[in-house]
Formats: sequence, structure tokens, C-alpha cells
Amino acid sequence: MIYLDYQATTPLAPEAREAMLPWLAGPEAPGFANPHSPHRPGRAAAAAVEVAREQVAALLPTGGKVIFTGSATEALNLAILGRKPSVIAVSNIEHAGVLDTAAASGAQVHFLECGSDGIVPDDIAIPDGTQFVAVMQVNNEIGTIQPVEKIAGRAQAAGALFLCDAVQGAGKIAPPDNADMIALSAHKIYGPKGIGALWVRDGVELSPIIHGGGQEQGLRSGTLSPALCAGFGAAAQLAAQHMTSDAAHMERLWQCARGILSDWTLNGSDEQRWHGNLNLRREGLDVARLMSDLRNIAFSAGSACASGSGRSSHVLRAIGLDDREAKSSIRIGFGRYTEFRELEDACAKIHATAKAQGV
Ligand code: PLP
Repeated sequence: MIYLDYQATTPLAPEAREAMLPWLAGPEAPGFANPHSPHRPGRAAAAAVEVAREQVAALLPTGGKVIFTGSATEALNLAILGRKPSVIAVSNIEHAGVLDTAAASGAQVHFLECGSDGIVPDDIAIPDGTQFVAVMQVNNEIGTIQPVEKIAGRAQAAGALFLCDAVQGAGKIAPPDNADMIALSAHKIYGPKGIGALWVRDGVELSPIIHGGGQEQGLRSGTLSPALCAGFGAAAQLAAQHMTSDAAHMERLWQCARGILSDWTLNGSDEQRWHGNLNLRREGLDVARLMSDLRNIAFSAGSACASGSGRSSHVLRAIGLDDREAKSSIRIGFGRYTEFRELEDACAKIHATAKAQGV
């Protein structure tokens, strides 16, 4: 199996797994203790959580706090519903975690439209009366990198708070220094599934959306999992250490894949893009058939969220593709553990199998 779906999730880094194991102990060792208990094993678990918090915080700007959540989706919900804005502006290529939460919040929602390159212009007008703006750092479907610092500046000048969904950018590129809130997910940075975080700038007031024991400074009740926190922290530390080498590896892989698939059309900007995301289309391609012919290659039809729903991707439609073009698109996502040879092999097979369809 060649895994090429790194935007959906990344493999667990061996270092993150190692860091988790002591906190998954059975009755023979105290690592299972509740990190919110005041006894010795509880305090040891709490200390591990705080080490992890520091490691995650090191990927983020200074002057804020990290609140652990169950996922980035929950972090996005906390940011939006915890502020209860009455007028929100979001880009039209956000993840459903932002789009659906904004819709469910009852606020009036404005859409900030991207261009055909998949990038929201950095001089985009913020509609009058907007209290809250959300724009993602790196798009999960097409990998385009948004000018989030500039948009954050415009949002703040218009009197709004700025939330950045940095799920696909964290640990790969620098965070937006001037955001008010930033959402992250461990399982996109080689950490475990089931944990995310919301970074909140000092002075930004939030109300909880989950009530109970008052953990996470009252913002997210529920017992934390020290194992998940430790895995997230180790993955964040590793991402910081590997940022330059990961990017160089990605560039080599990108050149290889682009070369083999050079007569496919790239969806979204080539330059202003994370080069671990190759979203391509080919006129007349039957993607379902391609995927069923290549069962040993795990790639995706557009995005994991849109695939299976029958609907074409809102991101591909936002960059001007019609339904047919959107449905003839595939996403090849690679990362730290992708080997050059396996990517070369997979791309050659994808190309040959598509051509065998006569397209
Ligand atoms: N935002 C983006 C850009 C994503 O790619 C994803 C996951 O696909 C999420 C948010 C949601 O993350 P989680 O799986 O942690 O809820």
C-alpha cells in the first residue's frame, strides 16, 4: 500500500507513539492516573500535560494560551460559538468545521471569495459590521497558502477578531503572528487522532461550549488524556525540529510527481501552495474507476470530506471549476514518511491507468 492522503491524516510519528506509551499503562504502573487528581500519580500526569502544552505552544505565536480540545473541529466550534458574534466573514474555501459552525451559530455570514488561483486576495474588503473573520492558513483540498497575516490586519482594523484554521499549515510553515485565535489538530502533524488545540491570544475573552468540571481554565470541561497530549506535544516538537528538512523533502517529491503528471492540470496556485498537496484534474477522467483500479494506492477524490457525498467539492467550485471538472480531479498528498521511489511508482501507475481510460 502506498499512502498518499496526508491531508486526510498523517501516520503517527514513532517518537509520538513512544511519548504516549507511559500514559497508556495498565494497573501495574501509575501512568493511567487522572491528570486532574491532586495525588502524586495525578500530578505526574498533569506535569506531562503541561510539558505537551509547552511543546504545542512552541509552534504558535507568543502571548497566548493553548487550550486542548478533542479535535480541531471542536477548537473551531469553541472559537466561533465561544464568541457568539452576530456578523461573521469567512472565506468560501474554509473547512466544514468553520463553514457549518458559522451557519449553525445563527450569525449573519459573509463570504470572502478566493480567486481562480484558490487564494483570498490580501486586500479583500471586510464587510461593514463584521465582528469575526475566519480564514484558513493552508487549504486542505488544494494546498493554497492564504495571506492570513494581511487579512488578519484588515479584519482587526475593521474591529473584528481573526481566527485562523492552521490545521494544514501548523508545523510546516510559520503561524500567523497577528491572529487572535488559531486552531490545530494533532493528527495532521504526525500526532494521534482525538486531540486538537485552540490557541487564544491573551485578552481575548471566550465562553465555554462544553460545561462540567471546569478543566482547561474553564474553557473545555472533560478529563484530558495525558497520552494524547504527550503524543501531540512530541509531534509538535518533532515538527519544529523537522520544518526545514520536511519542506526540502516535499520539494523533491513535488518535482518528481509534477514531472510524471506534467500533462495534468493543477487546481489552484502552483507557487503559493504547500508542495505536499498535488490536486490535479484530467478532462473526462472517471475518478471512481481510477480509484478502484488502483486499490493499493491510497489517494483521494478531491477531499475526504466531499468524497462519498456525491456533491462536488465547494473548494473546486470556488476556483471556478464546473461540476465535470471538479469530479475529474484527484488529490495526491505526501509527507515526511513518503519515499521518493514509492511516489514515483504511484504517479506512474496513476498516469498509465488514467491514460488507459482513453483520457
Ligand atoms: N480544518 C482543516 C483545514 C482540516 O483539514 C481538518 C481535517 O480534515 C479540520 C479542520 C478538522 O480537523 P479534526 O479532524 O481535528 O477535527
